Amino acid sequence: MEQSQKVIDQVMAQIKKRDPHELEFHQAVLEVLESLKPVIEKHPEFVEAGLLSRIVEPERMVMFRVPWYDDQGRIQMNRGYRVHFNSAIGPYKGGLRFHPSVNLGIMKFLGFEQTFKNSLTGLPIGGGKGGSDFDPKGKSEGEVMRFCQSFMTELFRYVGADVDVPAGDIGVGAREVGYLYGQYKRITMLYHGVFTGKGLTYGGSLARKQATGYGLLYFLREMLKDNGKEITGKKVIISGSGNVATYAAEKAQEMGARVVAMSDSNGYIFDPEGIKLDTVKRIKEIERKRIKEYVKDHPSAQYYEGSKGIWTIKCDIALPCATQNEIDEESAKILVTNGVWALAEGANMPSTPGAIKTYQNNGLLFGPAKAANAGGVATSALEMSQNSMRLSWTFEEVDAKLKDIMVNIYSQVSQAARDYGCAGDLAAGANIAGFLKVANAMMAQGAV
Ligand code: NDP
Repeated sequence: MEQSQKVIDQVMAQIKKRDPHELEFHQAVLEVLESLKPVIEKHPEFVEAGLLSRIVEPERMVMFRVPWYDDQGRIQMNRGYRVHFNSAIGPYKGGLRFHPSVNLGIMKFLGFEQTFKNSLTGLPIGGGKGGSDFDPKGKSEGEVMRFCQSFMTELFRYVGADVDVPAGDIGVGAREVGYLYGQYKRITMLYHGVFTGKGLTYGGSLARKQATGYGLLYFLREMLKDNGKEITGKKVIISGSGNVATYAAEKAQEMGARVVAMSDSNGYIFDPEGIKLDTVKRIKEIERKRIKEYVKDHPSAQYYEGSKGIWTIKCDIALPCATQNEIDEESAKILVTNGVWALAEGANMPSTPGAIKTYQNNGLLFGPAKAANAGGVATSALEMSQNSMRLSWTFEEVDAKLKDIMVNIYSQVSQAARDYGCAGDLAAGANIAGFLKVANAMMAQGAV
């Protein structure tokens, strides 16, 4: 057996033994390690320094009780998490997720992925992630605020502008960030850049809200261009209807694509005439209702129960922007049969290993999450810079920097794939390029 395979097996055995139930974490680690084989062969010093077994272990993890009062005056209890995954290249940085599915394994997979994604941005940010199994859906404003205040009353000890800078993720949008930041400031008396995705009146950056979705399209455009194709006139499906999906759809339309379907966790809408984004924004951002409401305003559209059905729609390009493992092998095969030829991931790890194999076996142009959705965190790092300098850049300035960063990520990732003998495999390229910077920093810093 090759030396690299032995090392990978050892590391996998070690993490499975320690945490046998953390399936998403095992999946994320295996996906990275498999593509690092040529790196492991070329750099025995990483193995000698025990780097692989260190890089899969978070530097620190905190779990805490979050008690809060509901509107009936009863005390409810959730669990809070923050995973400080890797600070080799900068302070921990990564979102907070509030969703009932949240557990330590999901936090660890997201923190692990975040470490390499942040490295790819070229900016000095380490990897972290956090959240809670609290579900903001169906809660009143008061309940969401009281939960956020209680959550931050514990979390404030572990974050700080030069320590750890959280942001939003699933279930944590502008409203939640506002309540969390307000409580942080109240406890610490510090008005500094401890959070990104803040409101524009209190230190937020223009274009941060749009950044993940826009960045995804900038990356996609580069990937298509490099393969002699373009977005204009193409039929696109986008899962989700949250922050990433909405602004991916907005930029796709601006680039001349026709977005025909979007979804939420209950079902999906199909509008052959093209999704009217104003309606989606009103339903999801303002009214906080379900996507099915869309068909009331647009008789050309149909609503179908079950979010998985979105992958059965015929299109050219698919952009999964909802959640992990939302495309399994079966859905991937249907996509291929229906003629999809490009797929870029807005969500984190939205494709199962079987789905990725299917894309690769059928020659799809595939933009992996670590690279394709890095625009959000990159713009968060730009927000941190603006906060430190006490100034605000214009929308156009931030958007221009975001574009440059995404173009640069594409070229870095495709170059790394070429350098390590897997030209065209952007998933491997992203893992390799993201890993090398963090690994070299860890080597330089000794036994950390
Ligand atoms: P939002 O909470 O704004 O939106 C999430 C969307 O996904 C909603 O439409 C939600 O539907 C849907 N969804 C959530 N869970 C499921 C599920 N189990 N099945 C089907 N649909 C589901 O989150 P974001 O847009 O911020 O995040 C989406 C993805 O993008 C996540 O994977 C996140 O980690 C990733 N990401 C986000 C970044 C950001 O800047 N926000 C940056 C990089 C990655 P419903 O309303 O019914 O719950």
